[in-house]
Amino acid sequence: MRPAWWERRCTPPTARAARRVGTPTPVSRLPRVGTTIFTVMSQLATELGAVNTGQGFPDFEPPKRLCELVSLHLRSGHNQYAPMAGVALLRQAIAAKLARHYRRIACPDTEITVTCGGTEALASSIMALVHAGDEVVLFDPAYDSYEPIVELCGGVVRHVPLSRPDFAVDWQRVAEVISPRTRLVIVNTPHNPSGACLSAADLDRLAETLRGTFAYVLADEVYEHMVFDGARHVSLNSHPELAARTIVASSFGKTYHATGWKVGYCVAPPALTSELRKVHQFVTFAIATPLQYAIAEFMTEHPEWEDELSVFYQTKRDRLRSLLAPSRLVLVPARATYFQLVDYSAISDLPDHEFALQLIRTSGVASIPVSPFCERPPGGERLVRLCFAKQDATLVAAAERLVGL
Ligand code: PMP
Ligand code: GLN
Repeated sequence: MRPAWWERRCTPPTARAARRVGTPTPVSRLPRVGTTIFTVMSQLATELGAVNTGQGFPDFEPPKRLCELVSLHLRSGHNQYAPMAGVALLRQAIAAKLARHYRRIACPDTEITVTCGGTEALASSIMALVHAGDEVVLFDPAYDSYEPIVELCGGVVRHVPLSRPDFAVDWQRVAEVISPRTRLVIVNTPHNPSGACLSAADLDRLAETLRGTFAYVLADEVYEHMVFDGARHVSLNSHPELAARTIVASSFGKTYHATGWKVGYCVAPPALTSELRKVHQFVTFAIATPLQYAIAEFMTEHPEWEDELSVFYQTKRDRLRSLLAPSRLVLVPARATYFQLVDYSAISDLPDHEFALQLIRTSGVASIPVSPFCERPPGGERLVRLCFAKQDATLVAAAERLVGL
């Protein structure tokens, strides 16, 4: 039992008051957080029968061979706990892929950890690195899961807005917020929702900015294999100076059209991996065994899958863009990921979340507003995000409803 002085020291006044009157109401650890915009929009899309171009998930199946491999491994005794760090075969396949794409030689035993999707990769990494009072730099718009986990760790977020119109990093502003209190900088490349990508020069600037500091980097690279128009993803794994202080997070959900499987991974130097695993082992311990064996085998059998994904999604991007060309939406350049930002200012002056609600209710199209990913969205910005990881029929149905606006 905890001593009385501990209760007095550690229980916030509101919790003490709740206890006195006997109500079991929890005192929220995330008072400013509601249900994620993705869940809200997908629920509304289901209720209203809208075309769901909101939440980012493909409405088509993973590769047939990969599904066959999952059922093969389900039936061949791979149904108990996987090793905490991940099935060795999968970690080896990831190491081979890192060497092939980024020339990063990573040790499967000490530098690669399989996680429950990108989400756990990010959460466990933040929990492993951020102490109470540490500062964490985020670039707005920032994916919605980063800030709440930093907050749960007692960290303090410093928001740096990406410059408009191209969502580039203003390195001068980054240099201004970095201080001895900075523990972590979270970058997302390719970037959700804008599709902007960090260049080799950006990575050099980041390395330069962090030289001599105690800050780590968390690189969210879940869209690493969806980069268009002949450009290549520049991974932090390919930058030795940064890689020495970085955890790179990725997700098989994106690469294999299987967001529901929740399998991802982290790549980090041994000292970081060791801290990450201390958290991972108590958050999820291990990830679904048959899925890990199946993905490992598929990666080895079909290394070309990753190389072909960009062309696959570029075709979908181009299809959506040509379908929307006659509309009054202005299409922001979409260089990567499976998202297209559209500027609706010729159609409405509503703020983005209100416009997204109106769009789903009156036109039957789900979209994602950008403002939930920003501390302070730039005044007057009128952007919503459409997901093009959809069958042709879905893209046509969405466009038919949007062109008339
Ligand atoms: N990071 C970004 C930028 C994402 O868009 C997503 C989800 N799509 C994730 C992380 C989480 O990945 P996962 O679905 O594998 O948990
Ligand atoms: N990452 C997905 C998106 O950006 C959503 C994932 C989720 O709903 N948690 O749409």
